[in-house]
Amino acid sequence: MSIVGIDIGGSKTIVGVADENGNLINKKRLATLVNLGREQVIDSVKAAVWGLLSDYHMSSEDIDGIGVCCGGPVDAERGLVLTCPNMPGWDNVALAKIFSEEFNAPAWIDNDATVATLAELMFGAGMNVNNFVYFTVSAGIGGGIVIDRKLYRGSNGNAGEFGHQVVLPDGPPCTCGDRGCLESLSSGSSIAKRARRECFDWPSTVLLHWVDGNPMLITSEHVSRGAAEEDEFSSYIWNQAMNYLGIGVANVVNILNPELVVIGGGVTRAGELLFEPVRRVIEKRALSGLSKIVGVVPAALGDDVAVVGAITLAMERLGLVGEGL
Ligand SMILES: [Zn+2]
Repeated sequence: MSIVGIDIGGSKTIVGVADENGNLINKKRLATLVNLGREQVIDSVKAAVWGLLSDYHMSSEDIDGIGVCCGGPVDAERGLVLTCPNMPGWDNVALAKIFSEEFNAPAWIDNDATVATLAELMFGAGMNVNNFVYFTVSAGIGGGIVIDRKLYRGSNGNAGEFGHQVVLPDGPPCTCGDRGCLESLSSGSSIAKRARRECFDWPSTVLLHWVDGNPMLITSEHVSRGAAEEDEFSSYIWNQAMNYLGIGVANVVNILNPELVVIGGGVTRAGELLFEPVRRVIEKRALSGLSKIVGVVPAALGDDVAVVGAITLAMERLGLVGEGL
């Protein structure tokens, strides 16, 4: 028995095959070449899955189910991507049906942060926790909510959009059309954007040296590395972003009183440089009765969290994991 997981991100896609216990047998990472158009991206994902299968002398008959996830809101019931903020032209795409037909197996779709939460609940940091929240901090910021060991999906499946809480009224514009959302201040792309815009005011910053003077090449990873090396400009940008992230997490702690906050996504590669200020802001800003009992930890599944999440989604729909199991 095997399950296929497909995690389509704005810059990279990860496909994987797992056994019936959710153990990843094989995976492959490919660039999501958004500029080539939707058809081409979907074709390259199909080819990558066929490649994974042939590596293990498997055919589509060996697939019992397929889980797919991507950023942005989805209609899980109808298997549709509603919009993909980082992928223009991906509105109302019947992605579940496309993969179901290609591999002749049932397929389901959900938001990447939602399935990542499911993966941490079943196989990761939330395995022994009743109530926790998951934050993903990468190009955007998303999240998920677990209450009494059940994923809370909301009225139409889109609960946990922690990135779109406003933490700075009249702050920078957000991809959602509002201003001052957490995502517009603390996501990887917003950190990079701000560093690119302001670096010329700090000509001695190590960042300009690392990118040979071309600010367009600055990434959030450069900024965190600069902050680790105590570069003044990098520290200034990074610390502000982490302060807002801490405020966003503290708000959620006050609302939901979780035992644990799990944070995943590319920006968490910065390690304690991210976790330490977030813990500090929670201690300062969340109510003491709530902040005292909450732990803040990295996603146990690391970079694989969303692809394992997609696999977990299919396992849940096939009745292999979930309540009472
Ligand atoms: Zn927003």
